[in-house]
Amino acid sequence: MSQTVIVNNEHGTFKQSHGAPMGGGLSGLLSDIYMEKLETIIFNDFPKLKWKRYRDDTFMTWSTTENGPISNFLDYLNSIDAHLKFTHEIENNNSLPFLDVLITRHSNFLSTSVYRKPTHSDRYIHYTSNHEPRIFDNTLQSMVRRAIIYCTTPNSFATEINHLRTTFALNAYPNTVINKYTSTEFIENLKLRISSPKSSFSDISDNSIWLRIPYDPYIWSPLRKICTKYKIKLSGSKTFNIGNMITNIRPPIIPLEYSGGAVYRIKCQACDTFYIGETLQKVNDRMNQHKNKCTQAINTNVAPRDSLNDCGPIKHAVETGHIWSFLNPVLLAKIPNGPNRELREGMEIYIHKINGFSLCNVMDGKTVQSCWYELLHDFKRSTNQKQY
Ligand SMILES: [Zn+2]
Repeated sequence: MSQTVIVNNEHGTFKQSHGAPMGGGLSGLLSDIYMEKLETIIFNDFPKLKWKRYRDDTFMTWSTTENGPISNFLDYLNSIDAHLKFTHEIENNNSLPFLDVLITRHSNFLSTSVYRKPTHSDRYIHYTSNHEPRIFDNTLQSMVRRAIIYCTTPNSFATEINHLRTTFALNAYPNTVINKYTSTEFIENLKLRISSPKSSFSDISDNSIWLRIPYDPYIWSPLRKICTKYKIKLSGSKTFNIGNMITNIRPPIIPLEYSGGAVYRIKCQACDTFYIGETLQKVNDRMNQHKNKCTQAINTNVAPRDSLNDCGPIKHAVETGHIWSFLNPVLLAKIPNGPNRELREGMEIYIHKINGFSLCNVMDGKTVQSCWYELLHDFKRSTNQKQY
């Protein structure tokens, strides 16, 4: 795996030097398999160890009077595999957080409650956001459910429910909803459901028909009534919002084989100069054109004047001797329609310029009508330069 995993981004190509890539689809499974192998060694050497692990987090109890200082055990763990570094945290005021559970030691038992990191924002999906009501109900319900499962003392449970009441009020949940899901009656019912769970297949065995359509607050309630009449279950699907239409958190690398119409950005390998272009050709062919023209221009020391659009990268190459990163174009938009693509190219050039990018484009692309400027300037405030 360490030989085959390659991470591509605008700044070049990287090879995973050891282990599984962070966030990779297989990484969790592979780390579990590896940790289990490691545990057979550990349990063989320490048969009485009290050790509970989730992925790479382990909770354990250690008696220094019986086993000596914990640092000896840590040294032992770190001697097994040079690539693994174990660190440890010990209890503070008889308490230690593990995942999202706070474990507290009493004289002859351990109690647990919900743990939130000090940086936790207590922000949940806001009640005014455009989602079907069950999304809000489920959000609060799942927090109450967690409180029931984690809080082992009446005190910690009451504290947690009070915390949820305050928090969800701050997230604009109406009192009726908060009161409903934190009422004694609801909690007792939920406790029963948790202690005797239904088979996970019981919900799908009734042959219901599901209708999945984008949620609309104005038609949802009457539509639900009609659907219920015909035994159809209604479910809201994700809708387009302004955010996911216009922002790319991580601009994807375009497959070089892509030929459906693209607005792309390329970067100079030697400095922070960028070029924005658009094409309907196969991306690879377009990149080769750029590359051939740059090579030709550097060899003859003359920038060809036949196509103004191509001039930017060529001019930069001739003037500086820098080489462009033609193997890693960043996709800014996929747009098959020619005029729309050219317009988007013009918008991207404008947005990049106001975001402080140094562009070598000789032309500004299709002019963006001035009525769009205000919206494009808002982009500047909401878009992190590095991400864009
Ligand atoms: Zn450069």
